[in-house]
Amino acid sequence: MRQDLSASNPWLAEPAQPAPPLDGDLRADVAVIGAGYTGLSTALALREAGLDVVVLERGSVGAGASGCNSGHLSTTVGSPAKALVRSLGEAGARTYFRFSDEAVAYTERRMQTLGIDADYVAHGNMAASVHPGHDARLEAEADARRALGARVAFLSGAELRERAIPTAFRCGLLHEPGGVLDPGKYVRGLRDAAMQASVRICEHTRVETIEDGMPVHAVTPRGVVTANALVLATNAFTPSLGRLERTLLPLRVCCVETEPLTEDERRVIGWHGREGISTTHVIPETYRWTPRGGIAAGTRIVRYAWKSALSTTGDAACFAVLTRALRARFPTLASSRIAAQWGGWVAFTTDTLPILGASGAHRNIFYALGYSGHGIAQATFLGAILAARVRGVRDELAAPFERTIWRWPVEPFRWVGASAVLGALRRFDARTDRKIAALDAN
Ligand SMILES: Cc1cc2nc3c(=O)[nH]c(=O)nc-3n(C[C@H](O)[C@H](O)[C@H](O)COP(=O)(O)OP(=O)(O)OC[C@H]3O[C@@H](n4cnc5c(N)ncnc54)[C@H](O)[C@@H]3O)c2cc1C
Repeated sequence: MRQDLSASNPWLAEPAQPAPPLDGDLRADVAVIGAGYTGLSTALALREAGLDVVVLERGSVGAGASGCNSGHLSTTVGSPAKALVRSLGEAGARTYFRFSDEAVAYTERRMQTLGIDADYVAHGNMAASVHPGHDARLEAEADARRALGARVAFLSGAELRERAIPTAFRCGLLHEPGGVLDPGKYVRGLRDAAMQASVRICEHTRVETIEDGMPVHAVTPRGVVTANALVLATNAFTPSLGRLERTLLPLRVCCVETEPLTEDERRVIGWHGREGISTTHVIPETYRWTPRGGIAAGTRIVRYAWKSALSTTGDAACFAVLTRALRARFPTLASSRIAAQWGGWVAFTTDTLPILGASGAHRNIFYALGYSGHGIAQATFLGAILAARVRGVRDELAAPFERTIWRWPVEPFRWVGASAVLGALRRFDARTDRKIAALDAN
């Protein structure tokens, strides 16, 4: 199997007819850079408000994280409730939980009204304890989130067994809204809807520079788009445009997927509700059934690359760790073959919450990014909120995201710090796994 990050991405395996690249100059009300969930959702909402929009995408639609993620459409937030209250205050944390509920509901409504069939299974997503030492902490976290208005339920071990969830998962914090979807079908569905609405999409068109001003110019190798406003929907790629370098830390996330399981193998595993699952490791493992009849595992190891360079090389060590982890959680799959391994880049802010804002001398360069690995719902919804913001309308649900945050350090401190912290977290999680193995052996 090739070790490129996208070589065996199963979500975009079917080729699509690309939209032609930009060839010549264009004028538009708004230029959007990036055709992932943020860019397409923003472009569609702007178009629905009557604006003329051009989307510029360096690869094909979904070439970033939107076309290769794990597909957990979730209200999950990246931080524990306590940390959220520390970052946003109690009122801000409540608003954030309301925002994440609405983000999932908005995405569901969008799929329905735009007629996007993304193989969506709406049975929620669960953080599941994998070691007895995590059980009480998970239950306390469920209480803390509920107290802040989150729609979560704590499920005991017995309740997980009623749902036929494998025994490696001891108890769970269930985020009731949401479920799992096919991220490739979703992003391509957004693309089709945007094109039908007469959004002009130029694929294979890399923006090389942005010339600040009123109007603003997006300069590509074969043409310039001139617009009154520009939207940066480039998430982890944003530093390569010389923007927001210290706001974002790009991290590489990988996934593996088993070959389709036989009916017998599926019956033995159970897990009929097909809830998305993530573990209580510090850097979680994620699991889901796929529409292909396999199980996909993701995350667990994330890496930063020197100077935020987003390499396209696969991470053999991460693929191996994910494969081992999957076989440990699902022992009946000890000899199943891995059919696909792939990955992409996400963007972390220092407090793991997304950020939305406007920059440039005329405050006409807008951005929403930094979803810290939870962008399917958040990027879709923030896209709509950003479209309103471009038109001068503010949404109170986005108030927590228009904030000043601590910035990441410059190189080489950034690389040294990120490598040291991520290495320590990796070792901590490996120790948890050794403890689980010791328990299983007794
Ligand atoms: C392996 C993996 C698993 C994940 N799992 C989940 C999950 O289960 N649930 C969840 O909610 N989130 C998940 N995420 C995160 C989620 O995919 C992202 O948060 C989300 O896709 C971000 O969308 P976006 O549109 O902002 O960015 P992207 O999808 O990265 O889009 C940015 C786009 O900008 C384009 N671009 C960049 N630079 C330029 C330029 N100079 N000119 C033109 N175009 C440019 C890129 O090609 C890209 O298409 C995962 C991510 C990864 C990588």
